Amino acid sequence: MNAFRRAGILFVVSAPSGAGKSTLCANLKQAPDFKYSVSCTTRPPRPGEEDGVDYWFLSDGDFEAKKEAGEFLEHARVHRYQYGTLKKNSYEVLQSGIDLLLDIDVEGAKQIRASGEPWITQSLVDIFIMPPTIEELERRLRKRGTETEEQIAIRLENARKEMAHWQPYLYTILSGTMEEDLQKFRAIIRAERYKSSRLTLC
Ligand code: 5GP
Repeated sequence: MNAFRRAGILFVVSAPSGAGKSTLCANLKQAPDFKYSVSCTTRPPRPGEEDGVDYWFLSDGDFEAKKEAGEFLEHARVHRYQYGTLKKNSYEVLQSGIDLLLDIDVEGAKQIRASGEPWITQSLVDIFIMPPTIEELERRLRKRGTETEEQIAIRLENARKEMAHWQPYLYTILSGTMEEDLQKFRAIIRAERYKSSRLTLC
């Protein structure tokens, strides 16, 4: 019987915080068919967050050292803290034929698009999740209840800026209910996996 082989797909998802991306990614994280990339950050952990599971929580010094050593595939400062994706991990996962999911901001996605490295450009599928309105985003942020008023104001201001960056993404999902977003996301994943250009008959 014929079988196909393919390299892993690099799914990059960006959205203003509160657009439902974290819940979406949490759902996808549990799926056995791809890996979730654990980023490094200088942000302190929130209650319940675990080192090595949600993020690698680094000191400013350790983050800078990795940056200097060229260990990041991309890195950006978001809401006052540094965030970065480790290059080595991403490469190894994709080469082994496993799909990888990166939850990163618009600046990080821009760096990945511009990387020019064949293993990245051939595997990249970037997806933007657009919140319905700023008012709805604010309502979702408040409902989450993890941020202070000042942090909510910063995040809304950033969201306004981030929402202007949807166009270079290959796909844009207009956020609805959690279930709708997940279905749309799954449809993209499924179609991308069947692209002839990704497959080798063996
Ligand atoms: P949070 O602090 O709420 O977990 O994440 C804040 C923002 O940082 C989110 O928009 C998230 O997508 C982004 N982010 C998380 N990890 C990375 C990363 O490795 N690189 C970049 N550029 N952004 C990241």
